[in-house]
Order: sequence, then C-alpha cells, then structure tokens
Amino acid sequence: MDKEMNYGSDYKYIPTTSIGSGIGIEVLPDLLCHTVQIVNIHLVGNPDMKEFVLVDTGMPESANEIISVTEERFGANSRPKAIILTHGHFDHVGAVIDLVKHWEVPVYAHKLEIPFLTGQKSYPEPDPTVEGGMVAKMSPMFPNEPIDLGNNVQMLPFDGTVPHMPGFKWIHTPGHAPGHISLFREKDRALIAGDAFVTVKQEYLYKVFTQEQEISGPPRYLTTDWEASKESVIKLEALKPTVAVTGHGLPMSGELLTTSLKKLVNQFDQIAVPDYGKYVNKHMQ
Ligand SMILES: [Zn+2]
Ligand SMILES: [Zn+2]
Repeated sequence: MDKEMNYGSDYKYIPTTSIGSGIGIEVLPDLLCHTVQIVNIHLVGNPDMKEFVLVDTGMPESANEIISVTEERFGANSRPKAIILTHGHFDHVGAVIDLVKHWEVPVYAHKLEIPFLTGQKSYPEPDPTVEGGMVAKMSPMFPNEPIDLGNNVQMLPFDGTVPHMPGFKWIHTPGHAPGHISLFREKDRALIAGDAFVTVKQEYLYKVFTQEQEISGPPRYLTTDWEASKESVIKLEALKPTVAVTGHGLPMSGELLTTSLKKLVNQFDQIAVPDYGKYVNKHMQ
C-alpha cells in the first residue's frame, strides 16, 4: 500500500445536495445506482455472489456513506474486487483514497486519466461563465487539482475487458474528460455512461435538486472538448442501450432512453453545447 496517496490541495466538502441524496435504486438485479449528494455511484454484481465492483466514488468526504451502502447490500465487511473510475473529476473520485485505504483494492482507469490520478496534471479550470445556472456559477469552488493514487491506480486492459466485471466492455468516450470511459454489457444492453451524457441538467441548481429527468450532454462547466463529446454520444447511441445509468440524474430505460438518446444525437448542438463559454468552439454552431 502506497502511504503517499493524497487528495489535491483544493480538496474539500462541497455543500450541495439533491432530493435523491442517500437513495439507492436497484436498476437491475446486479446493478445498484446510489446517489451521493449530486453524483451517482454504481455497485455492479449480484448480492448473492459476493463478487462485485464499485464504479466511481462519489463526492469528497463520502467514504463512510459508500462503505455503509456497500455493506448493506453485500454484507458486513464486504469489499469490492476493484474500483473502476469513469473519469477523475472531483465528484467521481471524492472518496477514492479513503476507500482504497479501507478496502485495499486496486483502482482502474483509462490511460489518459492516469495523469489526473497520480498528481501529474490538473484538469482545466471549471468555467463559471458557461451558459447555465447556479451550479455552473459555483463551479470555481470545485476541486480541480489532481489527486495522487500513487501505484494504486492501474490502466484498464487494452482488450476492452473490465477487471471483475464479466460481460462488460469499456468504451473510450472522451470530450468531458480526455480519458473518460463508459461501460457496456451486450447481453442486456446495460450502459454505465459516466458523464458522457447525463439525465439531468447538471448546470442548474433547481433541476439538480429536484432531479427532474431530462436528457442532457455532459456537465457543461467541466467539458472542454465539445466535438469529441458529440462523437462519444453518437458512439453510445449506436449501441442501442436498453437501460442507462449516468453520473448525474436518474436511471433511464426503454423507449424513453431510446428516443432521448436519438434526440440528443440529432440536436446535440442545441441541447448539449452551451451558447457561450470559454470552451465552446465557435465554428461548431
Ligand atoms: Zn465529470
Ligand atoms: Zn460528474
């Protein structure tokens, strides 16, 4: 165990919440989506099998909540085989170091996210000037310095398989972050999209609070490459998922998911891309 692990120097608790906070939804018998304040974590694995994986690690200072949700579902002192990160933004790695210390399990991420997880590179500053509401305006308080997992983080296998998640493949879906990934299982067309697209307008405090369901592109204040984001959504829509869980917002399935994703692809520039903001490429519009 590397005792040099640390969060970035701007790491802190973020006082924001939603009506979904603390609530878990069993989307499939082996997929639990649980909301930590304003972000989702996913427990993948059948509770009878005792073999499972945690996808993403919530907000800063949420380790105790994540451990109790895990033990409630899989039994006292249970621990995942691994932690998989869709990307390294603060709201997806918030508890990762505490969890690695507590569980002593490996963390996997895409090669291009590793610099943000090993203290080498900061994400670009969030953009408070982007078209959007209060969450966008609050974004300068969000941590953007890299955390350092030392040698506890590893690259995902190049063949697309996901350690300890049989049947799932990881798909590179950059744009929101360079090494952003989504996870897809062919058998039942289940998709863990991360922030490649989300089901709530994450820039608006009121919508985040009420968790009003609405297809949306990736959270705007942290998205720096809109052309890549669009390609990623096209890639995910082409998989024809039947159920999707996302980093923010409620799970979506069936006809609503199909039509919403089609709409997002067809109207990406109107729905997802902000009208203004420092990462908006003018010639996209
Ligand atoms: Zn993100
Ligand atoms: Zn997020």
